[in-house]
Amino acid sequence: MESYLEILHEIADIITNSEEMRHIVEEKPEELKKKETELNGLKVKSEEKEKRIEEARKELAGIDMDLNANRLLQKKYENQVLLVKKAKEMTALNNEIYNVKRIIDELTAKRHQKGQELETLTEEYNTAKEAYETMEEDLGRERSLVEEKISELKPEYEALKSMKTDLLKKLPPHVSGMVKTMEKTGKFQHIIMAPVNNGLCGVCKMQLPPQLVSEVRRAREVKQCPYCGRILFWDRT
Ligand SMILES: [Zn+2]
Repeated sequence: MESYLEILHEIADIITNSEEMRHIVEEKPEELKKKETELNGLKVKSEEKEKRIEEARKELAGIDMDLNANRLLQKKYENQVLLVKKAKEMTALNNEIYNVKRIIDELTAKRHQKGQELETLTEEYNTAKEAYETMEEDLGRERSLVEEKISELKPEYEALKSMKTDLLKKLPPHVSGMVKTMEKTGKFQHIIMAPVNNGLCGVCKMQLPPQLVSEVRRAREVKQCPYCGRILFWDRT
């Protein structure tokens, strides 16, 4: 049992000391991938806006063409009015002029509305594009930093990891299982062992039952703190 505790101490040290490396080597790439997805989302959004701007421009050009055609028509009718002699023809032409003017008014209102729409879209597009470009730049910088860090840390991290694997094999399955579970659970904050001092768990500071304290002192089997779950050891100091 003493030797189990020694092994556990070694494992606990490896876990605590390699935590920062583990975070960089194993979690950072995942974080980067998530950011990449976010970046793609921003890209798609700004591309959609670009497409809508293109459409709005086309619609605006179409309205302008209609406006020009109707203005020409208006002028043509107004010239004809000067030439007609019959009242009936005059009335008919005036009706046409009235209609054309109405169409021009409608088109002008529509043009105004489209113009505003285009302005809003352009503003939104610029904001989206800026956000995308900033993030792309940041992500690129972060990625090269992380890659550099990983290639620097990976050999040591892998060595510690295989040392840990070898040490775990020396423990009884229920104890190594305990350690593996603790490693996976974030709540331990990479501290899997706790000294017992003055009858308290040295990490969570809860009062331990006297029976448990003496069992930890005898060190015949691996005991966990009933409150925080850490493996308890007797603090000789
Ligand atoms: Zn505890």
